[in-house]
Amino acid sequence: MDGSKLHVAILASPGMGHLIPVLLLANRLATQHGVKVTVLEVTTAFSPSESHLLKLPTEKNLVERIELPPVEISHLIKPDTKVVEQLCMMLREALPGVRSTISALNHRPDALIVDHFGTEALPIAAEFNMAKYVYVPSTAWFVALTIYCPVLDKEVEGQYVDQQDLLKIPGCKPIRPEDVVDPMLDRNDQQYYEYVSMGNRLTQFDGILLNTWEDLESTTLKAFKENEIWRSIVKIPVHPIGPLRRPVQPDGSKSAVIEWLDKQPNDSVVFVSFGSGGMLSAQQITELAFGLEMSEQKFIWVVRPPTEGAADDAFFTSKTVDSDGTPYYLPEGFSTRTGNLGRVVSMWAQQVEILNHPSVGGFMTHCGWNSTLESICSGVPMIAWPLYAEQRLNATYLVEELGISVRPLVLPTKNVVARDEIEKMVRSLMDDEEGKKISLLQFFDFLSAENALSKGGSSYNSLSEMLKHVAAKLKV
Ligand code: UDP
Repeated sequence: MDGSKLHVAILASPGMGHLIPVLLLANRLATQHGVKVTVLEVTTAFSPSESHLLKLPTEKNLVERIELPPVEISHLIKPDTKVVEQLCMMLREALPGVRSTISALNHRPDALIVDHFGTEALPIAAEFNMAKYVYVPSTAWFVALTIYCPVLDKEVEGQYVDQQDLLKIPGCKPIRPEDVVDPMLDRNDQQYYEYVSMGNRLTQFDGILLNTWEDLESTTLKAFKENEIWRSIVKIPVHPIGPLRRPVQPDGSKSAVIEWLDKQPNDSVVFVSFGSGGMLSAQQITELAFGLEMSEQKFIWVVRPPTEGAADDAFFTSKTVDSDGTPYYLPEGFSTRTGNLGRVVSMWAQQVEILNHPSVGGFMTHCGWNSTLESICSGVPMIAWPLYAEQRLNATYLVEELGISVRPLVLPTKNVVARDEIEKMVRSLMDDEEGKKISLLQFFDFLSAENALSKGGSSYNSLSEMLKHVAAKLKV
């Protein structure tokens, strides 16, 4: 579909994990379909410090990025206000800026796309007579749970996590109670109500875009189309348009980590990273350090201060590094003992470049959806270590449905994973037949991902379909 006469605005929630998929969608619309895109970025006084590290140029002629006036919610939050509620508040506070920015644009957008935290912008789309879409840069399974949550809310008594039986969702893989998304963990918390409202609003758009593809989630996507219950709930098209993920961006210079990787044998290094916000407890960091050391496998580990350190500035600033340069939150002498084995990177690494390096053969990941897609598309098998949001669902899907990951016996959010279990998982991924079997499966997923995105592929066609609807609405 040639969308060269179309202009689409996309509203991006704050945080790297939200901004990255929006910029990827903007690039995709511009480069593949010729659409002009304006990205409206919600900013806060505490914008993520990593955003300058994001090597993701946007298509210069067609994609414009506009930072909305920073939102301030400190007067609204209490010490126990959870992340989802905070994000919904930020987006709510940003709405006046969204409205004024859109009304000041020379060329009024034909469609407004929001992510799932921005669904309260629906009336703005109506006000400016724009088509309205919601982009959930995650799995169809997560969206099924989100939309079905208002039904579960009526049917299920007590906390979801206390249920003895799996949570049933029509036509979809049932959900283990312990895997529910963060806002469903406590039904008495305000963020649960935000989530239920979000589920209700998702079906009021002209369509839902998902960062997945037909072959990866055929069962759930088919259920949306064919299951009678779903057809009565979701009367709008669901467009799987992925996997949109960051490409490798060679810039001529090599970081020290990539230079080190260049010297390692193929598939010999496990990459350990827990996303843009993932933090572990001090005890878990210690176990992980010993587990990696005991596995005797090569590693790159992106470390962040422990959760306790972040909450306690005095703890954080009073200690820095040991005599051999080991950060204070790793076991003493770790850098010396593992100098030949691995590299520790503080806070942020060029993940896409690392995952695409031939020396990397495994990824211990928090299962954020961007990281998961980057791993699948690089053909790197995973150790699933979910921490927050919808990551427990992602981990279960990777292990049970796709068979492309191993995971700890007990969720890392419930128990500290002990060093010997970590040693065993890393060895099984990097060393054994198990790892090789997983790698092979990854290869097939990678091929199906490429096919979906290419011209005439399922995701390409699905995005074209959405643009046709936008164009048709203009003519009415
Ligand atoms: N990322 C990175 N370097 C890091 C940590 C994260 O490049 O050290 C990128 C990663 O490649 C991914 C994104 O940040 O594209 C994280 O998104 P994801 O959905 O995986 O997790 P989130 O950070 O939202 O929990």
